[in-house]
Amino acid sequence: MEQVKTLVIGAGAVGLAVARELAQDDPDLVLVDKEPSFGRHTSSRNSEVIHAGHYYQPGSLKARLCAEGNSLLYNFLESNALPHKKTGKIIVATNEAEISVLNKYMELGTINGVPDMRMMSKAETQALEPRVKCVAGLHLPSTGIFDTHAFMQCLEQQAEKLGAFVVYGMEVTQIQKQADRYLVSFTNGDVFECEQVLNCAGLWADQVAQMAGIDLQSSSLKQHWCKGEYYKSTKIKDIKHLIYPVADPAGIFLGIHLTLNLNGEVRFGPNAFYVDRIDYQFEDKYLEDFHVSVNRYLDVPLVDLEPDDTGIRAKLQGPEDGFRDFYIQEESSHGLCGLVNLIGIESPGLTASLAIARHVAALLKLKRD
Ligand SMILES: Cc1cc2nc3c(=O)[nH]c(=O)nc-3n(C[C@H](O)[C@H](O)[C@H](O)COP(=O)(O)OP(=O)(O)OC[C@H]3O[C@@H](n4cnc5c(N)ncnc54)[C@H](O)[C@@H]3O)c2cc1C
Repeated sequence: MEQVKTLVIGAGAVGLAVARELAQDDPDLVLVDKEPSFGRHTSSRNSEVIHAGHYYQPGSLKARLCAEGNSLLYNFLESNALPHKKTGKIIVATNEAEISVLNKYMELGTINGVPDMRMMSKAETQALEPRVKCVAGLHLPSTGIFDTHAFMQCLEQQAEKLGAFVVYGMEVTQIQKQADRYLVSFTNGDVFECEQVLNCAGLWADQVAQMAGIDLQSSSLKQHWCKGEYYKSTKIKDIKHLIYPVADPAGIFLGIHLTLNLNGEVRFGPNAFYVDRIDYQFEDKYLEDFHVSVNRYLDVPLVDLEPDDTGIRAKLQGPEDGFRDFYIQEESSHGLCGLVNLIGIESPGLTASLAIARHVAALLKLKRD
C-alpha cells in the first residue's frame, strides 16, 4: 500500500491548480488521473475564455472566484510567458428590450468588481466592430483568451518541481474512510492511504463523492451533463473582440457567442443540451439553430459554418432548475474530515481555477487550525 498525505483526483485545470497550490505548503502529494495525460476532458473542450465575472449572483463562489481568478490567471500567464491575449468582449443588444439586460450586467459586474465596463451606443459598438448588428453594446475589456494546454502543462511542471507526483492511467474506484485516514483503491489494484483527498474529478466528481459516502440525492449534488457544440468559420478575418449575445434567460448557457483563438480564427458556440452519456461525437443537427442565433448579431452564410468541436459541462443546475453555485466543501460536517469535494465546476471554472485552488487551501487550513 502506498502512503501519501494528500491525494488529488483529476488532472484537469482545477486538479492541477489545486495540486500546485497545496504542494507549495507540503509536497507529500500525488495527483492521479484515469486518462493517459492531463486535460483529456472539459479543460480541453471549452471556449478558452478568461471571463470577467459579471454574470454571477453577487456573493456566490462563481462571482468571487471568477473575479479573483481573472487577475490571478493574467498574472500567472504573464509571469510564465504563456500565450494569451486580452481581446476584450462586447455583449450586444440586438433589440431595445435587451438593453435592460446589458444594464443588469453592468450592475452585477459593478458589484462583483469587474473593472472598466462601459455601455456603448450602436455607433460606438460599430466603431469597434463594424460588422456587428446591434442597437447597443457592453464592453468588457478584462475578458481575454488563453492557451489552456500550455496553462495546464505549466501547472503540472510547477507541481512536479515542488515535489508532487503526477500519475496517469489511475482510475479511482473506491474510497473508504478508516479512522483519520482514507483508503483509495484504483482499477489497477493499487491502494493509497492518505489523510486528505481532493475530489477534482470534473464530470465524474459527484460519483467520486458518492464513493466516499456522500448521498447525492439528499445533498442535491447529482451532476447533470450538458453538451455544447461549436462551429467554426474560416471566412471571417476581421473581428477583434469576443462577441456575445445576451445570455439564455434560464441561465443554462451564455448564448451562442463568437470566440477567437490565439491565431485570430473564429468559432461560434457552444449551444447547450442535456445528455446522459459522455460522448464527444459531433451531432451536427443544430446547424439551423446556430445559423439563426449567429445571424442575430453577424451576417454569416450558412455554408460558411463548419462543424468544429464539442465539450460537456458538469452542471448542478438541471434543465428545470435555477442558478446553482460551485460546490466546494471540506466535508467534516458529513464525518469526512480532510475530504474536499469540488462539484458542479462548470464555467467559469477555467478562469477561476487558480482562485479555486487558493480557496481549497484555505478550507484545509481552516480545518487544521
Ligand atoms: C463547452 C464548454 C465551454 C467552456 N468555456 C469556458 C470558458 O471559456 N472559460 C471558463 O472559465 N470556463 C469554461 N468552461 C468551464 C471549464 O472548462 C471547466 O469549469 C473546467 O475545465 C473544469 O475543470 P476540471 O479540472 O474541474 O474538470 P476536467 O477538466 O474535466 O478534469 C477532471 C479530470 O478528472 C479525471 N477523473 C474523473 N474521474 C476520475 C477517477 N475516478 N479517477 C481518476 N481520475 C478521474 C478526468 O479524467 C479528468 O481529467 C467551459 C466548459 C464547457 C463544457
